[in-house]
Amino acid sequence: MPGEHTACVIVSIGDELTLGQSLDTNSRWLSARLLECGIVTARHVTVPDDAVAVERAVREAAADAPLVISTGGLGPTEDDLTRVALAAALGDELVEDAEALRAIEGWYAARGARMPATNRVQSQRPSGASCLPNPHGTAPGLRARLRGADVFCLPGPPREMGPMFEACVLPALRPPAGRVVRTRVLPTFGYGESRVAELLGDLMRRGRNPLVGTTASVGVVTVRLRYEGGAKEAESALAETERAVRTALGAAVLTPEGDTRERTLAEVVLDLLKERNETLAVAESCTGGLLGAMLTGVSGSSVAFAGGWITYTNAMKHAELGVPDRFVPDAADARAPGAVSEETARAMALGCRERARFVLRGAAGVDHALAITGVAGPDGGTAAKPVGTVWICRASRDGTVDARRFLFRGGRDAVRTWSAMSALGMLRLRLLGVEMELLGEVERGEG
Ligand code: AMP
Ligand code: MG
Repeated sequence: MPGEHTACVIVSIGDELTLGQSLDTNSRWLSARLLECGIVTARHVTVPDDAVAVERAVREAAADAPLVISTGGLGPTEDDLTRVALAAALGDELVEDAEALRAIEGWYAARGARMPATNRVQSQRPSGASCLPNPHGTAPGLRARLRGADVFCLPGPPREMGPMFEACVLPALRPPAGRVVRTRVLPTFGYGESRVAELLGDLMRRGRNPLVGTTASVGVVTVRLRYEGGAKEAESALAETERAVRTALGAAVLTPEGDTRERTLAEVVLDLLKERNETLAVAESCTGGLLGAMLTGVSGSSVAFAGGWITYTNAMKHAELGVPDRFVPDAADARAPGAVSEETARAMALGCRERARFVLRGAAGVDHALAITGVAGPDGGTAAKPVGTVWICRASRDGTVDARRFLFRGGRDAVRTWSAMSALGMLRLRLLGVEMELLGEVERGEG
């Protein structure tokens, strides 16, 4: 009786992957799916369309793990070498599989065509392997035993790979008995990754169960919990660790207790607005619509997000939002606050609320306005206002105004993204009634 699948190695095959021309989404999908089934992926290996490299990768994988899954290289062309490589690893001849051949011919017949001669090669398999049917394409998969490991070779196109995994690999999986793998994610905003790690302290100790790790992506630091062990203790162990993480990180955790989904900051803010029946408009300068795009990227956002103004030039800030001429004069004036200033950010936010009230006649305007003005770079920085200097202002119906100066690092894209995210972060804190200094914040305006 073959043993349990205590680990998996995934081998991705294709020049386009090793040359950086396309992204290996198959490995990511497979690992996530295996984890749901209780199997942990030990490593991902990516190799080019080279028979020797593929053979070596499959051999090494089979020596290391009882389960090996490859994707790619099963097409009909010269660069599709997985069949050849698997045969070499097994020490087998390639033979034609009559049933696979009929299936490929049938696939073309069903589309009123005859099988091109080149596709015949796809019916070949190593003599000791079996073919896996592919209802969504011409390339059959392969299954074999190599040095005690179960090896599955799946086609590269994700819409063929996924269904074949579900139909042919899933039923053959043997996750370790009595042991489950469960995960939870807690997205945070406001602290940098090292600050999060510092606050989590001993919770991030390696070898801990549940294991606690972090990943960072444009401002959102996500805390990931992973439990491995008996099914009975899983929920209580995860809940206990989740509570400890929430206690350590406080308001930085974006989701409420019990909600451990991966969420974007825009989703979280929109949910908070909807719960309160409140609305938002935006006034954007250096972000040029990025904040609006983040909000409208969430389906159903129109319930809470009214719209906004992109006022990139001084003239637009003046004409559309009523930012006073003396803040942003046409001619350079060293005494004027300038486009990137607390004064201008406040005037933009207040002007945004004012204009919304006028435009949305009868709808009483919006409850909150967010305004952003900054120096995204790479040009335009000065000693007083270096690249990355951004003023963000929130103004709300209750009369409260919150203006903060940030200094963001990175290129133009990074500064713009951080700006939009931080504006959302500021509104979120207001909606929760929580005080917190956000990453990159260097100065507060008057309240
Ligand atoms: P192949 O089986 O090598 O002929 O792969 C055919 C196509 O599947 C490629 O051109 C890619 O578009 C896609 N593909 C192959 N490998 C991957 C992968 N690891 N992740 C995502 N797509 C892939
Ligand atoms: Mg390929």
